[in-house]
Amino acid sequence: MPEGHSIHRIANTFRNEFLNSKVKIFSPQGRFEADAKLVSGRKLVASTAVGKQLFLDFENELTIRIHLGIYGKWNFYKVPVAKAPEVWGQVRARFGATSASADLRGPTVCEVIDQQGVQLVLKRLGPDPLNPDPTGSEALKFVSKVKNSKAPIGAALMNQAVISGIGNVYRAELLFRAGLNPKTPGERLSEEQLMGLWTDAVKLMQIGVKKGVMLTRDEYLTGRVLVQDRYFVYKREGLPCRVCNKVLVVEEFLARRLYFCPKCQS
Ligand SMILES: [Zn+2]
Repeated sequence: MPEGHSIHRIANTFRNEFLNSKVKIFSPQGRFEADAKLVSGRKLVASTAVGKQLFLDFENELTIRIHLGIYGKWNFYKVPVAKAPEVWGQVRARFGATSASADLRGPTVCEVIDQQGVQLVLKRLGPDPLNPDPTGSEALKFVSKVKNSKAPIGAALMNQAVISGIGNVYRAELLFRAGLNPKTPGERLSEEQLMGLWTDAVKLMQIGVKKGVMLTRDEYLTGRVLVQDRYFVYKREGLPCRVCNKVLVVEEFLARRLYFCPKCQS
C-alpha cells in the first residue's frame, strides 16, 4: 500500500498540473459517474494530502476524496485529455486539464463530499508528519496520543488516528532507527523518545516526497540506492542486521508483517 509520501507527491502533481484549471472529470468505468458530474468543469482550487488521503477542492465547495487502498493507482500524462492514451482497463476517473490529464484506477475510496464531510474525515485522522507544523502542536498531539495508550508502539504507528501516513515500511524502519521494541506499550515511552520518532518521521518522509522512494539509511538518504540496500529491516528477515549482525526476524503482528532486529530493538 502506498505510504503518505507518495500521496503527497500526487497532491503536488495535481497542484502543479491542474490547479486553477477547469478540470473535466468523467468515469470511463461508470462507478464514479454521478459524483464526477458534481465537479466536472469546475476550477480546482486546492490539492492537499493528509496521510494516505488526497483531497481535491473545487470552486463550488465540493471536494473529491481519494484513498488508494492496496490496489489504487494513478497514471499522469503531460497532454490534454484529447491527446491522452485511449482508456484501457478499469478507469474509475479520468481527469483532464488544458495541458495535463490523469487516470485513477482501483481506489478504495473515490467520492465527492461537501465541507462538512471533509471535516468529519479530517477529525478522525491523526497528525501528518508531512504537513507543516510551525507551532509544534501536531508533534505534541502525536506524543500525547501515544502516551495515553497501552497499545504497542508498533501498532500506534500504523493507526491513522494516531499518526497519518505511516505504513509498514516506515513503521519498521523508524522503530529500528530509534532502537525501540515494537511491542513496547506507548505509555511506557518517554516524551523524548516519542518526539524523536516524530522528528525522524518528518525527516524520512520529506526525503520520500523529494525522491519518490522510501530511503531510511543515513548514508543513502540522498543518493541512488539499489532496492536491496535501501532498508535496515524491512523485508530483510533471515539476513544479518546491518548494525549488530544478528539475524533479522519477521512476525505476524496485528495482521501485518513486522520486521525488526531482536537485539538492537530488544
Ligand atoms: Zn541489530
